Amino acid sequence: MEERLENIQLFINGEFVDATTNETFENKNPFSNEVMNHIAKGDAADINKAVLAAKEAFTNGPWGQMKVKERMKYIERIADLIEEESETIARLESLDSGLPISQTRKMATRGAENFRFYSRMVQARLHGDAYQVDNEFMNYTVYQPLGVVGLITPWNAPFMLLTWKVAPALATGNTVVLKPAELSPLSANILANVIQKAELPKGVFNVVHGFGETAGEALVKHPIVKAISFTGETTTGKRIIKNSADSLKKTSMELGGKSPLIVFDDANFQQALDATVWGIFSFNGERCTANSRVFVHQAIKEQFVEALKERVQNIIVGDPKENDTELGPLIDTGHFRKVTGYIELAKEEGCDVFQGTVPKEYQAGNFVPPTLLLNAKNNMRVCQEEIFGPVMAVMEFKTEEEVVRMANDVEYGLAGYVWTNDIKRAHRVAQAIDSGMIWVNSQNVRDLRIPFGGMKASGIGREGGHFAMFEFYTEPKAIHVAIGDHPIPKFGIK
Ligand code: NAD
Repeated sequence: MEERLENIQLFINGEFVDATTNETFENKNPFSNEVMNHIAKGDAADINKAVLAAKEAFTNGPWGQMKVKERMKYIERIADLIEEESETIARLESLDSGLPISQTRKMATRGAENFRFYSRMVQARLHGDAYQVDNEFMNYTVYQPLGVVGLITPWNAPFMLLTWKVAPALATGNTVVLKPAELSPLSANILANVIQKAELPKGVFNVVHGFGETAGEALVKHPIVKAISFTGETTTGKRIIKNSADSLKKTSMELGGKSPLIVFDDANFQQALDATVWGIFSFNGERCTANSRVFVHQAIKEQFVEALKERVQNIIVGDPKENDTELGPLIDTGHFRKVTGYIELAKEEGCDVFQGTVPKEYQAGNFVPPTLLLNAKNNMRVCQEEIFGPVMAVMEFKTEEEVVRMANDVEYGLAGYVWTNDIKRAHRVAQAIDSGMIWVNSQNVRDLRIPFGGMKASGIGREGGHFAMFEFYTEPKAIHVAIGDHPIPKFGIK
C-alpha cells in the first residue's frame, strides 16, 4: 500500500479553496495505480474567480507598480524556498509522475534556478532602446508587462516546466493563473505553498487544477487574459490557438517532437552511444526533445545496434523512489496503452522489436521496458508520430544528403543531434536540419540564455533567455518625444 497524501485545493487570491462545485478528481500513483489523494476539480467558475483576482492584483495591487529590485526580492525568496523544499519536491514529483528520483532531484534544483535566472535577467536586460533623430526627436521604447497571463502545462516534467513559465511571467511584472496538468498536480501545489510562504501580494499567483476541456478552455477563452503560454501536445496547441482567436490573445506554443539523432561513422562511438541511450530513456522517454529516431551510418550500424541492445538489457527499470532506478513507470494506464499500442504497430509495420525487461514484482505499474524498433523505415507511422515513451526507432543511412532528407521528412521540428568529428559536416548538417535546437556532439544540455522551442508542428515562439521576456511576457511601447522645432503640416490655414 502506497502512502496517502493530503488532498489538494485550488489557490486563488492568496488562499487555498475548494472548487466552486466542491467536486474533486482522483490522483493516482503511476507505480501502483493506487489513488494517492483527491484534487479540487476547478472549472470555468473557478477560472473566472482566479482571473478576476489576478486582474485586481495587476491593476490595483502593489505588484505592477513595485520597484524592480523589490519585486526581485520576492522572486529570489521563491528560489530560496524551493531550495529548502527541494527534497520534498523531488519526492512528490517522483511519486506523482513516475520519474526516477535521481532525475526529479535535478528538476527541483532547476526550478529554483529558473527563478534566480529570471531575477538576474530582468535586472540586467529588461530595458528599452533609445533612437535619436538628429536634434528633432528622442524616441525610446519601454517594455511593459501584459497583465493577466494564463499558463497551461503538461504532466511530463511538471515542476521544471511550470517554473520555467511562472518565473519570467512574474519577474516581468505580470500576474498569473496557472492550469497544471491533471495527471501530475502535486508540484504546482507545492509552488502555491512556496508562493504563499514568500508572501507575494494576494492574487499575483493563482492555481486552478482541473481538466483541459473545462478549466483549460475557460482560461484560454477568458477575455481578461492577455496571453496563453502552453506546453503540451500539438493537437491541443492547435485547439488553443483557435479558441484564443476571439479574444485576440498572444500565444506561445511548445509542442511535440520526433527528434532525429544522427551518428556518422567518424563519431566518438562511446559518447554517441551514451548520449543516444540517455536521450531516449531518461524522463522515462516522456521527453519532448527525446531522440526517438536514431540514424546510424551503415559502416558502424551493426556494432552500434549491438551496443544499444546491451545497454537496453542493463537499464535499471524499477521503483522511481529508489536512487539507482533509471527508468520508471509511464504516467497513467491510458498513456501505457498508447505506447504499447505503438510497439504492436511497429511489429505490424515490419520492425524487429528488441526490449529490456520489467522485473516481475512491478507488474502493477505502467511499466514499458526500454524498447528498440530495429530495421525501421522513416515513413512508418512509428517513425512519424510522437510515441512519448521509452521507444526508439533505429535506421541506417549511407550519405549525408540522404540522412538530412530523412531527418527532415517528418511533421515535427523540435530538436536534433549530430555526432561527427568532421567540423565542416557538423555545421552543414546542423544548419540543414529543420528544428529549433541542435546539439552537436552532445546530449540535450540546456543553456538557459538560449531560445528554447520548435519549428513546424513543434511550436510557435521561443521560451528562455531574453526571448521569453521581450517576445512574450512584455510588450514594447514606443514613445516619441520632440526635442526641437520640427516641421508640422499645417491644415486649415488659408
Ligand atoms: P496535453 O496537450 O494533453 O496537455 C497539456 C495541458 O493542456 C494540460 O494541462 C491539459 O489539461 C491542457 N489541455 C488539454 N486540452 C486543453 C484545451 N482544449 N484547452 C486548454 N488546455 C487544455 O499534453 P500532455 O500529454 O500533458 O504532455 C505531453 C506533450 O507535451 C507531448 O506532446 C510533449 O512533446 C509535449 N511537450 C513539449 C515540450 C516543449 O517544450 N516543446 C515540453 C514538454 C512536453
